[in-house]
Amino acid sequence: MNAEIIAVGSELLLGQIANTNATFISSQLSEIGINVYFHSVIGDNGGRLKKAIEIAESRADLIIFSGGLGPTKDDLTKETLAEHLKVPLVYDEKALETIERFFQNQGRTMTENNRKQALVLEGSDVLPNHHGLAPGMMLQKGGRTYILLPGPPKELEPMFQFEAKPRLVSLISQGGVILSHVLRFYGIGEAELETKIQHILDAQTNPTIAPLASDGEVMLRITAKANSKDEAWQFIHEKKQEILAIVGKYNYGVDDDTLASKTVEMLLYHKLTISAAESLTAGLFLSELAEIPGVSGALVGGMVTYTKEAKMNQLGVPNEILDQHGIVSSECAEHMAKCVREKFGTDIGIGLTGAAGPDPHDGQPAGTIWIGIAIGDDVVTRKLQLSGFRNTNRLRTVKYTLSYLIR
Ligand code: ATP
Ligand code: MG
Repeated sequence: MNAEIIAVGSELLLGQIANTNATFISSQLSEIGINVYFHSVIGDNGGRLKKAIEIAESRADLIIFSGGLGPTKDDLTKETLAEHLKVPLVYDEKALETIERFFQNQGRTMTENNRKQALVLEGSDVLPNHHGLAPGMMLQKGGRTYILLPGPPKELEPMFQFEAKPRLVSLISQGGVILSHVLRFYGIGEAELETKIQHILDAQTNPTIAPLASDGEVMLRITAKANSKDEAWQFIHEKKQEILAIVGKYNYGVDDDTLASKTVEMLLYHKLTISAAESLTAGLFLSELAEIPGVSGALVGGMVTYTKEAKMNQLGVPNEILDQHGIVSSECAEHMAKCVREKFGTDIGIGLTGAAGPDPHDGQPAGTIWIGIAIGDDVVTRKLQLSGFRNTNRLRTVKYTLSYLIR
């Protein structure tokens, strides 16, 4: 099954809002192994919407609409589709009741416009809206599936996830189940990972394997179709073992794990405490850790020491070290890690210093980063030579440090 998502709304074309509905639907569809080949965006215009529907029908068998189900005149998605498919619009009793009750409870009078929201394409499976008034619809016609969803994300997202998605799963699996599992990798590029498992990717049928890269991380989503949950897990498990036998050393987690969540998990498991002194990242490392619930069992504190003086006077890095080696140096990172560990009395101390870019800093080229990791009385330092933009370099520094800690 191949999908096209048609987002309707002039405000999308005017650049007033971002098309987050298409992003959301796409990521949900990838979880159940449905390929999205096209995203279209159309203004609130019946003629152009009709054209977009015709184009979508020529290249997709699942067409999902977002927006234009509301009560006003510019909301014309279902009217346009009804006319195009020659399917009449009929009142859905349940939706009408919900709308009437809403207006009674509010003590407001209902207009004909409001009743319009209860109109649905005849023969469609009505998707209840638990967060608004306009119901969604799913209709099968001419070998295609049409799904209509309301525009507001707080209505569309739960409706897609809990109403439309399960119906799609049973449609494509004919009574079976579809499960997916994400493997997360760090320290290997997307191209290299794909090359290493190319033979597995080439031979994939069920489960399917979809690679995805972002922010220096690579993910593989394994999606299996089977007659039962157990069988689907069995398929996924076998494929996972096959993949990890080749690239397992780069795998740090699964599903919703992050480098930070795995780091915190490791710290809590080993009952280790941590502190950090940050220069170029200016708190980003601590902030990433702080996103994880329960981190207070491991994170004691830290300091942002940006200037040479702050490193010397606040943190206690010896003057001679800074004068002799500069602040972008192995020695500086080492002492930052040592000093912060002592100051906060933690098991682990982190020191991050470098030239974030775009200009060289302290005589070192942009992207030169030094990471110090003090564990007990031992200190190791690592050098990174990054080539990204400033904030990418800062984020990569943090991610590398986290990945080092969980190795
Ligand atoms: P309503 O009943 O609120 O009018 P609707 O189904 O008619 O809902 P629209 O009028 O198209 O939907 O959009 C309503 C609001 O939903 C927009 O103002 C916007 O804030 C949000 N929205 C619409 N489309 C998208 C989209 N593709 N991505 C993110 N947000 C969207
Ligand atoms: Mg509207």
